[in-house]
Amino acid sequence: MEGALTARDRVGIQDFVLLDTHTSENAFLDNLKKRFNEDLIYTYIGTLLVSVNPYKQLDIYSKKQMDIYMGVNFFELPPHIYALADNAYHTMLAEANNHFILISGESGAGKTEASKKILQYYAVSCPSVSPMDRVRDRMLLSNPVLEAFGNAKTLKNDNSSRFGKYMDIQFDIQGEAVGGHILSYLLEKSRVVHQNQGERNFHIFYQLVEGGEEDLLRQLGLESNSQHYSYLVKGQCANMTSVNDQNDWRTVRNALSSIEFDNGDIQDLFGVIASVLHLGNVQFESDNKGNAKLNNSAELRWLLGVSVQVLQEGLTYRKIEANTDEVLSPFTVDYATYARDALAKAIYGRAFTWLVNKINESMENKDLSRKTVIGLLDIYGFEVFYVNSFEQFCINYCNEKLQQLFIQLTLKSEQEEYEAEGIGWEPVQFFNNKIICDLVEEKHRGIISLLDEECLRPGEATDLTFLERLEEKMGSHPHFVTHKLADKTTRKTLERGDFRLLHYAGEVTYCVVGFLDKNNDLLYRNIKDVMRESKNAIVRECFASMESDNRRRPETVASQFKSSLVGLTDILMSKEPWYVRCLKSNESKQPGRFDDSLVLHQVKYLGLTEHLRVRRAGFAYRRRYEVFLQRYKPLCPATWPHWKGLPADGVEVLVRHLGYQPDEYKMGRTKIFIRHPRTLFATEDAFEICK
Ligand code: ADP
Ligand code: MG
Repeated sequence: MEGALTARDRVGIQDFVLLDTHTSENAFLDNLKKRFNEDLIYTYIGTLLVSVNPYKQLDIYSKKQMDIYMGVNFFELPPHIYALADNAYHTMLAEANNHFILISGESGAGKTEASKKILQYYAVSCPSVSPMDRVRDRMLLSNPVLEAFGNAKTLKNDNSSRFGKYMDIQFDIQGEAVGGHILSYLLEKSRVVHQNQGERNFHIFYQLVEGGEEDLLRQLGLESNSQHYSYLVKGQCANMTSVNDQNDWRTVRNALSSIEFDNGDIQDLFGVIASVLHLGNVQFESDNKGNAKLNNSAELRWLLGVSVQVLQEGLTYRKIEANTDEVLSPFTVDYATYARDALAKAIYGRAFTWLVNKINESMENKDLSRKTVIGLLDIYGFEVFYVNSFEQFCINYCNEKLQQLFIQLTLKSEQEEYEAEGIGWEPVQFFNNKIICDLVEEKHRGIISLLDEECLRPGEATDLTFLERLEEKMGSHPHFVTHKLADKTTRKTLERGDFRLLHYAGEVTYCVVGFLDKNNDLLYRNIKDVMRESKNAIVRECFASMESDNRRRPETVASQFKSSLVGLTDILMSKEPWYVRCLKSNESKQPGRFDDSLVLHQVKYLGLTEHLRVRRAGFAYRRRYEVFLQRYKPLCPATWPHWKGLPADGVEVLVRHLGYQPDEYKMGRTKIFIRHPRTLFATEDAFEICK
């Protein structure tokens, strides 16, 4: 009977911690589903926010909504991404320390949308001295620009981030957003020259070709039709309905002008994009000696402000040093094609880095006064395709690292702290994915090390010898399988050139083809020399600054990525964490569809119920006795203005005076532990009034 349902039955519980039945996965799922069906996509687990992708626009992101959440205590309103953003912000101001918001979930779960909503919230709601704040505008405008250059349609998501992004938003002591800085991680460059069936190249190419003004296209020698460009049609879906390239072009064009790009920069940037497209159309044929020659050099005319002659030579010959002489060794057609693609990827990748730097310059705050930051992490999510390659290997490794960080900060250190503080505690079991991180990254023994070793044996090593090395070294590892190592039933699903990793989020089978090559990411030296002569200032800059010492072997892609993730972990570990866990509601991007088994799978691997169990049994807040007493002592006559005994005793007196019930808090060795955030909020409210 509809009428007999209470509101609570219908809309579920907004904080899982209050779910009074047991903490089973099914109860968890049931609650999420109830809420999803009422368009309530957000639910808390304590202060962690769970978000389920609705795949439809909800009317919950207006300025009015922002105002409602501004400065209001976390649990007084329905869960919202704004509440989390606001809470992080006010804690940062009150405690004058740095924070970060880790947004995770698999590809298409809603991470990028969540990060944009948070940024908008800060840009709109934070106090502002000048109403037309340029830095804030630029922070917002950096989004469409970076998305144009770094996002693409994949089978999982029509606007999939193909790079990792960490953005610091800097606030001054008044709480005004005064600056920003972006770190970008490993862009998927291979997409520039190849896209799988049903996928596209980076948005910017289609935007320029489909939306570019006639004059501009003429200048760049481009046709206004993406079908004309071989790099744009590999996935056979250049035109798609969910994206309006022409509108997006205008947005990006306007954004670029507002972010301090002058006309020269903009011209050069589009020059780079156009050059990549022309380069893709350059074809080679075999001469009578089997050497590559260009079959039409017309396309080259448009390329990068480099002389046709020199570029042609760079694409079809390799310079080799023999004793003191340099000789030119001709390429076969295959090699020349390879060199062409390598050049296209290098140009695009470096231009992307240039773009990020340029945006950073425009958001930089040169004022040296004290600032605190909130870091926003939005990185490519875990992904599994029909065929998975080096790129998925890197992306999924990155997700393992973030999951490991989450585990360390929530499940592991949380429980260790109870133990250290002598708080009675029934340990919660959880799956620790450190074993998989080690499998990938361990020095001398991990997959990346073995891959790098193979890359050091040019001419001898191949993708298949790499696989053999893995089999030799990893043979008995519980998270590693290949055709040779598999038992009968698993073997059927594995090809000989594959290896399978049992990731925390599920199994992924990687095809080794291309691993060595992509990890090496080599570019022939003479082509680099050619690029340094370019008339295009961006190209010149990108190739001039790097590899001044040609002889030193550059770090491999996987190793570089590994060190950048270590750096990221260090950045995050020095800040206070907040979590948004995004869940995908269905695989077909359909509004209103909630696929039970798909969501349940994510709930499981994200460790949400374990997190809930730790949260429920545990304590949401803890403060060192000194700190707690110092802040709240005005609330009790016995502790104000000075408490003469031990801080712990003072705290005990204080909280009794405030009416804390015995089950609401526990006294540890050095800290007070408070079970529910509410309790502390009430104390905080009392403090605000008495101030
Ligand atoms: P991710 O970054 O996790 O791969 P996105 O944030 O790009 O995923 O989201 C994928 C798509 O899902 C978006 O393009 C949008 O259509 C939809 N989506 C995500 N979050 C929301 C939301 N809060 N409201 C409405 N649609 C959303
Ligand atoms: Mg994304």
